[in-house]
Amino acid sequence: MKRLAWFLGPQGFGAYWADLATHEFVRVDEKPDVTILPGFVDIHIHGGFGLDFMSGTSETLRALTAKLKDCGYEAFLPTTVTASFEDTRRALATLTKDPAMPGFHLEGPFISPRFPGAQPREQIAEIPTGPSEWDEVFDDPRLRVVTIAPEIPGALPLISRLASRGVICSMGHTNATFAEARAGFEAGVRHATHTFNAMRPFHHREAGAAGFAIAEQRLAAELIYDRIHVSASAAAILAQCKPQDKLIAVSDGTMASGMPEGARLNMWGLDVIVGNGDARLRDGTLAGSAITLLDSFRNLHADLGPEIAIRATSLNPRSALGLGKPNVYIVLDERLQIVERLETS
Ligand SMILES: [Zn+2]
Repeated sequence: MKRLAWFLGPQGFGAYWADLATHEFVRVDEKPDVTILPGFVDIHIHGGFGLDFMSGTSETLRALTAKLKDCGYEAFLPTTVTASFEDTRRALATLTKDPAMPGFHLEGPFISPRFPGAQPREQIAEIPTGPSEWDEVFDDPRLRVVTIAPEIPGALPLISRLASRGVICSMGHTNATFAEARAGFEAGVRHATHTFNAMRPFHHREAGAAGFAIAEQRLAAELIYDRIHVSASAAAILAQCKPQDKLIAVSDGTMASGMPEGARLNMWGLDVIVGNGDARLRDGTLAGSAITLLDSFRNLHADLGPEIAIRATSLNPRSALGLGKPNVYIVLDERLQIVERLETS
């Protein structure tokens, strides 16, 4: 499995003869016509192609997995939305054992009512103060990421509890001040969920959760890069401020991803209209995204360069989940169309 390709290898990004089976990469002075990278890893995705994790079945997830593999995915975390315990449990029961789904992401319901985004506001819940039915979810070994607002009552002990058993706690849908975000970090928060979106923004007298996400070097920042949720200039600022291993692209994809413009969907009990590259509620609120990580990769590649694009969509989320050596490589032509998918095991 030897290929001449643009690759992010041991000597940085450049032209390599890449042996994908043995993971040996030799820098060369030739001009490849393809780019190779390990498959995408998406730690925040609700669905795509008309398919939705919350309302679907195991068959829905199988169909979604197949569609995402066509888009270059190696793995993803099906992500819940703010919902009742019963609805959350029903969705989690559809998860099947599949290396493409190394767990799930619990987004809500323990978030700030000030920043619901498109999360169903009436399902936002208080953190249980004692034993509760939610313990079943908190103790689920498949739980890999939790999006939580660190400033709400009971958040800090819950963050400590989850972080101590290896769950990635991600501050999001949060009204946290800079100091409250730092308290969350001290309790164990290590990610920021879709940085800039649905969080207290940066203000020069109160730097907010967004300021903390930008400034704290040990915190990984998720970014939805459809160029709609976050502008190119704000993304560039974030990329300049974060260490190279701390920027993580997420699709936050919904059933609208991959659907034609003008399609009308019922998602999480809300009416959603698919636009040109976005999905919105009737009042114009962005309702998750309409992209996959392939779109995000292309946008990052064009705006911030190939190295940041490869790290953010593949290497960084892979190491956040501790996935080890890639089993999937994707080959892209000069227009960044996928021309081949190579499975090495
Ligand atoms: Zn989301």
